[in-house]
Amino acid sequence: MAEDSWIHFCNGEKVVFENQEIAIFPSIESMTLCRKIASFRDKNNNKKGFMLYNLDHLVKRFELWKEEFPMVEPFYATKANNDPVILRILTAFGCSFDCASQNEIDLLIKLGASPSQIIFAHPAKTEESILFAKAHDVKLLVVDSVEELLKQSRLFPGSKSVIRISASSSQSISDLSVKFGADPEEEAPEIIKIGAKEGINIHGISFHVGTGCEDPAAIPRALRAVKKLILMGREAGHEMKLVDIGGGFNGYNDQKFRECAAGARPTIEALKEELDLRFIAEPGRYIVAPCASICVNVQLGKEVSAAKITGNPADKDKRGIEYYITSSVFGTFVCCWYGYLNSEGRPLFPKGGEQFVSRIWGPTCDSKDQIETNKMMERLVCGDWIYYDFKGAYTTVYEAPFNGFPHPEHLFASSEKVWDRIKETLL
Ligand SMILES: *Cc1c(COP(=O)(O)O)cnc(C)c1O
Repeated sequence: MAEDSWIHFCNGEKVVFENQEIAIFPSIESMTLCRKIASFRDKNNNKKGFMLYNLDHLVKRFELWKEEFPMVEPFYATKANNDPVILRILTAFGCSFDCASQNEIDLLIKLGASPSQIIFAHPAKTEESILFAKAHDVKLLVVDSVEELLKQSRLFPGSKSVIRISASSSQSISDLSVKFGADPEEEAPEIIKIGAKEGINIHGISFHVGTGCEDPAAIPRALRAVKKLILMGREAGHEMKLVDIGGGFNGYNDQKFRECAAGARPTIEALKEELDLRFIAEPGRYIVAPCASICVNVQLGKEVSAAKITGNPADKDKRGIEYYITSSVFGTFVCCWYGYLNSEGRPLFPKGGEQFVSRIWGPTCDSKDQIETNKMMERLVCGDWIYYDFKGAYTTVYEAPFNGFPHPEHLFASSEKVWDRIKETLL
């Protein structure tokens, strides 16, 4: 059987889009489809890992955004997943984009995004990339320093500067304010002042509360600082039309996302009305995390003393199992370094039976290449599959060639209903 006939084997129809085969099914459930694909691979003795994109989830996320935040235009953070299929579909659905580099802008323009659909959100840009933005008429540019403001206005007069302020939340998994963001009390007012003096018009304010933020009060809190700066800026003669509430929205739990949206909406609505502002956001993880699952294969499962895994001498006589799988933290599983952002692996074909203390290692020589540890799992053997869901964000974009191990092959699937909608929007 030909290697690419998994679609046929799973009774799907094949379409080709962005040079990518997409399987269309009457309906899909990711884990069930992964089981069918793994069975096909087992038949062919193909034990390479694979990543299944379920386009239904992508469209669903975009729609949930419109439901919860109808007054905030999403600018998807391209860095979370830059697969052309994903980007083309988002473009077609009218999503805009947050780009951090010249290459990201280039990619999006080639895929048909219009310049007004792009914000160049990196506050420390190369001169070359500013000139590139200018050449392509990408006008919204983020700054967090006087130096960047002056550089930008020198290279690209007429661009629209947005000041990024620091607005961290202690409840975020990854706090971004240590690296970027002007202090809203000292530095941002200085940028506003210098801008006014130099005749550089400031277009708005942005912030990012940190990725995986679970505090519904974080955005309203940041908006208090934003409001002050908008008023201060207008006083100084700036345009101040835009508020960018950044990213950090929950990608794993719809309910938590809805709570965060419900917490932020009243403040956004009031501010939008009172000051006649345009609101945008830069969701990354939220949009793409749910749209892909990964299946990896066990290369080895070896029995050890459970104490080796738990670190507890009392477990010396208990049995534990160490696994080595086909994917590593130097790639798809880089999220393991951020602890609980990693979803838990489950046997794709559970057989039941005794559970053992287990540790899962990536295949590379580096001892930091640990995917999960100290978890209870039934015994798996070489050739068995492990399933991880919510793997669409910050996975493929990190894939490094370290040690030469291959990364999961990308497979795409959609339900008939969603594909018909995508087709309709694209044509
Ligand atoms: C990474 C990033 C985002 C997206 O963050 P998520 O947590 O994935 O939503 C948005 N804006 C900026 C400036 C970023 O650096």
